[in-house]
Amino acid sequence: MSTSEHFDVIVVGAGISGIGAAYHLQTMCPKSSYQILEGRADFGGTWDLFRYPGIRSDSDMHTLGYRFKPWTADKSIADGPRILEYLKETITENSIDKKIRYNQQVTKAQWSSEDSRWSLTVIDKVSGQEKFISCGFLFMCSGYYSYKQGFTPEFAGIEKYRGKVVHPQQWPQDLDYKNKRVVVIGSGATAMTLVPAMASDVAQITLLQRSPTYVISRPSVDPFAKRMRRLYPKKLPMPSHVPKIQPTSKNSTNSVEKPRPTSNKS
Ligand SMILES: Cc1cc2nc3c(=O)[nH]c(=O)nc-3n(C[C@H](O)[C@H](O)[C@H](O)COP(=O)(O)OP(=O)(O)OC[C@H]3O[C@@H](n4cnc5c(N)ncnc54)[C@H](O)[C@@H]3O)c2cc1C
Repeated sequence: MSTSEHFDVIVVGAGISGIGAAYHLQTMCPKSSYQILEGRADFGGTWDLFRYPGIRSDSDMHTLGYRFKPWTADKSIADGPRILEYLKETITENSIDKKIRYNQQVTKAQWSSEDSRWSLTVIDKVSGQEKFISCGFLFMCSGYYSYKQGFTPEFAGIEKYRGKVVHPQQWPQDLDYKNKRVVVIGSGATAMTLVPAMASDVAQITLLQRSPTYVISRPSVDPFAKRMRRLYPKKLPMPSHVPKIQPTSKNSTNSVEKPRPTSNKS
């Protein structure tokens, strides 16, 4: 297979994981060349795709956010647009935006032991052109669900239903649910978010669940985190034992080494 370009590392996906991987890669392996290949037209992955009313994180952003860019907003459970803003800041502050190639769908990855490299087949979704890129290390940050379509169980007789069926993964931005009677199927995090966000606009909303879940009401502003932010400096320095990883030789293309074990001796 002929390849047109070679990089030390290819990161697939510009979501939270891909952006985090890129930051650590360029910080700890500054001499390694890398690119992020993103299949969609924008960064953010989950936080760009999901657009349903009330979309927000389920866990606190102090732990979902990056160690190198502490979450400083008051609300620790953040909404989708704020998370996207945080990711935008992260990629621009660290020039990761220049490393992302959009509309590049990786369709095949083939390893050659002889050449010690991956050969990737990439489709440019705008031009439809097929390209080949090789790399020494492939970092799959492609998420865990299908971007094509959200999982929808088969409901017998659905074809007879005259109302609208909507999946939160493909939420139509022009969906008018004002004064409608709505049933939300499921009682996971998405339903917990959707129901209160829609309640004031609809005529009636019912959450339909198979098994009960247990919910406790907690404030969206974490008083402990707020207090700690006042006490601690904005950014604590990275621990000095985190090694910078350099290529073994100047000509090395596969230049990502394993971190060397740190000695406990001082
Ligand atoms: C509503 C909602 C709330 C959530 N809240 C939380 C939370 O609070 N805490 C938590 O830990 N998790 C949460 N999650 C899970 C969340 O998806 C992950 O935590 C996180 O955003 C995943 O980031 P990621 O970068 O790994 O993957 P994704 O965000 O899925 O990003 C993957 C990227 O890879 C790209 N990609 C995939 N395949 C290819 C390919 N072949 N070629 C090129 N590009 C490709 C995709 O286009 C996408 O941009 C939530 C999920 C949802 C849907």
